[in-house]
This record gives sequence, structure tokens and C-alpha cells, in this order.
Amino acid sequence: MTTLFISDLHLDPTRPAVTTLFLEFLQQRATAAMALYILGDLFEAWIGDDNDEDLGIEVASALKALTQQGTPVYFIHGNRDFLLGEDFAAASGIQLLPESKVIELYGIPTLIMHGDILCTDDVEYQLFRAKVRSREWQTQLLARSLAERRQIAKQLRDGSQKATRQKPAEITDVAPKTVIRVMREHGVRHLIHGHTHRPAIHRFNIDGEPAQRIVLGDWYEQGSVLSCDPTGCRLEGLPLGQGT
Ligand code: MN
Repeated sequence: MTTLFISDLHLDPTRPAVTTLFLEFLQQRATAAMALYILGDLFEAWIGDDNDEDLGIEVASALKALTQQGTPVYFIHGNRDFLLGEDFAAASGIQLLPESKVIELYGIPTLIMHGDILCTDDVEYQLFRAKVRSREWQTQLLARSLAERRQIAKQLRDGSQKATRQKPAEITDVAPKTVIRVMREHGVRHLIHGHTHRPAIHRFNIDGEPAQRIVLGDWYEQGSVLSCDPTGCRLEGLPLGQGT
């Protein structure tokens, strides 16, 4: 039995083939898994659980079918869908996890997270993150109408894309020093995260012991899944269907 990890699908009505691929993944591959972990940025934008657009409803019902069939689904917020809340969790059957969590993955303590907190060289982003993750900011935003929130989400997204394009690649990647500090703090030698869209399995040493950091891939040109079983973990691409 495998445990599956995905992140950075950035589901959006403008890319229906990716949504189709994800729904197929939930109906087929994921039904045979012991568990599915979604490590953030499932949606390109999430403006609140009261959003009445089709995509959120369709995804919630597909997740509900999977969880009812017996595969638990765990979710960690990304920087695009941090407003996803208890109402969506109830509708979809998923379980919301804190921003960092150590799980036992076939006997190996493994830290899982979205990964944006590792990008500490991007000082501007970390300030922005602290603001939008505050309860006060979120309460004020959720008090606005859906139309206003849609507008604000678009502005934030455009601003973030522009800022990311202007920053050198090493600034928007994880800071190696922070990776080691965070792994030490949690007492782990294994880390799985997404966010940077740079899929890879990095092997290195921490305090003389072998360590591993697995970065999940995004779902733009193809789907991407990390499949783990007692023999280890593999990153796999999922081909996008034709004509959808
Ligand atoms: Mn992200």
C-alpha cells in the first residue's frame, strides 16, 4: 500500500485539463492508497469556503467520494489557499493539518509542509505571509463580499507573480540554512514539501547523518505525485489527457 503526496495543482477554471486529471487521479490511483496528503496550493486561489463557484464544489465532492470510500486525505495550506477552512473540510471529508507536521512514514519520522516558510531569503514575501496569515487580516477579508474578495485575490496574485519574476531564482528557492535549522528543530532527517515547483530528491548530511528533502512538482505541463511505500519514495509525472 502506498502513501501519496501532491501539491501545487493550482486548480483554476482556465486550465480544465488539469482539473480533469486531478479528478481521475482521485477516482483511480488515490482509491488504492493508504492515505493522500495535499501539501498546499490545491487551488490557484481560495477566497473563502462560502465561494459558490463550480470548481470548489466539484473538487469537494470528488474528495468526499474518496474519503468515504476509505482513503483519508490530509491537507496543509499553501500560500494560495490559506483561507480554506472547516466548512470545506466538512464538505470534502479532508482533515486540515497545521503548517508543519511530523508524520511516521513507514517508520521514518518525516516532516511535511507547504514549504514557503523555508524561503527565508525572500524577506518581502515573509512579511507579506505574516500579514495574510494573521487572524485579524483574514477576518477582515472574509467580512467582504465575494466580488470584493475575488478582486483582492486577483491583485495579490498579480503582485506576487510580478515580484517573483523580478527576483533571482535563489531568493525564491528554499534557504539551505533554514532547511537544516527546521529539520533539527523537529528532530527529523526526512522532509517533504512543495511550493518552489522544483521537483527533486535532495540528499545531504545533517550532523553527520544522511538526510533527505523531497520537493513535489507542480501540475502545469503534467501532473506530479510522490508515491511512498516501505521500500522508499518515487516522484512520478502524470501525463495530461488530450482534448480536455
Ligand atoms: Mn506555494
